[in-house]
Amino acid sequence: MEIRAGGVTDVGRVRNVNQDSWLISDRLWAVADGMGGHRGGEVASKVTIDVLADQFDEFNAAALVEAAQQANAAVHERAAEDSELRGMGTTLCAMALVDDDEGGQYLEVINIGDSRCYRWRDGEMTQITRDHSLVEDMRAAGQITEEEAAVHPHRNIVTRALGIQAEVDVDAFVVAPEAADRYVLCSDGLFNEVTVDRIAATLRRLADPDDAASELVRQANQGGGRDNITCVVVDVVDDSGVAAVDDEFAGAVSSSQRRPADVAGITTAMSADAEPADGRGDKPVGGPAKASSAPAEAKPRLRRLTWRTFVFVVGFGAIVGVAIAAIGWYARGSYFVGVDAGQVTVFKGRPGKVMWFDPTVMEHTGIALSQVPEAYRDSLNTGRQQPSQAAADEYVDHIRSMICSDLRNGAKPSGRPATAPTTTLPPACGDLGTPAATTSTVPGRPPTTVRPPATTAAVSSNP
Ligand code: MG
Repeated sequence: MEIRAGGVTDVGRVRNVNQDSWLISDRLWAVADGMGGHRGGEVASKVTIDVLADQFDEFNAAALVEAAQQANAAVHERAAEDSELRGMGTTLCAMALVDDDEGGQYLEVINIGDSRCYRWRDGEMTQITRDHSLVEDMRAAGQITEEEAAVHPHRNIVTRALGIQAEVDVDAFVVAPEAADRYVLCSDGLFNEVTVDRIAATLRRLADPDDAASELVRQANQGGGRDNITCVVVDVVDDSGVAAVDDEFAGAVSSSQRRPADVAGITTAMSADAEPADGRGDKPVGGPAKASSAPAEAKPRLRRLTWRTFVFVVGFGAIVGVAIAAIGWYARGSYFVGVDAGQVTVFKGRPGKVMWFDPTVMEHTGIALSQVPEAYRDSLNTGRQQPSQAAADEYVDHIRSMICSDLRNGAKPSGRPATAPTTTLPPACGDLGTPAATTSTVPGRPPTTVRPPATTAAVSSNP
C-alpha cells in the first residue's frame, strides 16, 4: 500500500501559543490539541505525540491503543510531578496503517477528545470519529441539532481527554482504505472555522496533501483563526494488499446529512466566537453530568453577500418583472362589451379580472340593458370579448341597430311589460332613418352600423 501525507499547524490569529502538536510518519499520523495551564496544553500534546511515536512499534491495532494509553499515563504522571502543569490534558486523534493476521493491511483510527478524522471518498466527506464533547452528547441525545452544535457556545467543552486520569478509554475504528481516499486529521481550530463541505471542496481541488492542508489552514484563519489550527491530510495512493476488513465507524455522520453549505463558495459560514481570546487556549474538561445543564442555545451563522448572490437576486427580479409585464399585456390587451350601472358598456381588459388587473370602463353607451333583445343579454352579462375597441364599438352598434329596428317595426321593447306607457329610444336611433344607408352587410359578420356622434336627447314615442 502506498500512502502520501502532508500537514500544517498554525497558531491562528488570536492566540499567542500553539498548543497543538502533530505527527506524520510512514505508518502513523496524529493530531493532539492540548489544554490547561500556562504551559500545560503545549506540554500535554507534545508528550502525547512523542510517546505515541515511540511506543507504536508493532504495527497492529492493539499496539496503537496501547501506545495511546501509555501517552495518557505519561501526561498524567508529568502533571502530578509539576504543579505548574497540574490539570493539563490533550485530545488525540491518530491513524495508523496496521497489519492483520493474514498479512493484509488496513487503517486503524483512534480518538480521545474532540479532534477529528474525516474520510473524503468520491467527493463525499464522512466523519469517522465521534467527538467526546458536551455538544456531541447533547446532539446524540437529540437535545440540539447538528447545526446548533456547530455554533454552540459550549462546544469547546470536552468530556474525555488524555492526562486527566490515570487511565483513559480509547475509541477505535477500523477503516478499509481504497485508492484515492483522502483522510483529514484535524483539531477543532479547523472545523469550527471551515464547514465540512468547504473542506470537501478544497480536497477536490488540491491534489497535493501539503497544498490541501495549507489551504485549509488558510481558510480557518480567514474564518477567524480563533484557535490553534492543525491539519494532516493522508492520501491513499495505492491500495494493493488491503486486508479483507469492513469499516467499523461508531457515530459516523455523512456529509450528505449536513446542511448544504458553501461548496460553490456562495457563502462562507462563520461561527460566533466560542472561546476567550486569552492566549491560554484553555479547553475545559467537563463530565457527562454537565450535559444536562447546558442551554441548547445556538447563535445564527452570518452570511456574506457575494457577487453570485447579487447576480441571483438581479436575475430573479428580472424574471419576475417580465412575468408581471406578460400577465399585464394579456390582461389589458383586449376589450369586451358588458354591463355597468345597468347599461351596455365597453371595457378594456378581460371579463372578471386577471389576477390583480381589473377591467376599466372605456364607454357607457347609454343603452339600458332592459332595451336589449333577450338573446343578447346573457352574452352581455358575462362579457362579450372583442379583439379591439373598434370591434367592440361595432358590436355595440349592432345591438343598437337591432333595438332600433325592433322599434320601427312596432315591436314592443324586449323585456318590458306590454303596458309600459313609454319607452326610450337608444342614443342615435333617430339617425337610423334609412337602414340601408347605415347597415353594413359584410359577408360572414353580423350587420353593423357606422355610429354617428351620440345624441343626448332622449326621444319619446308611443309604441
Ligand atoms: Mg483547539
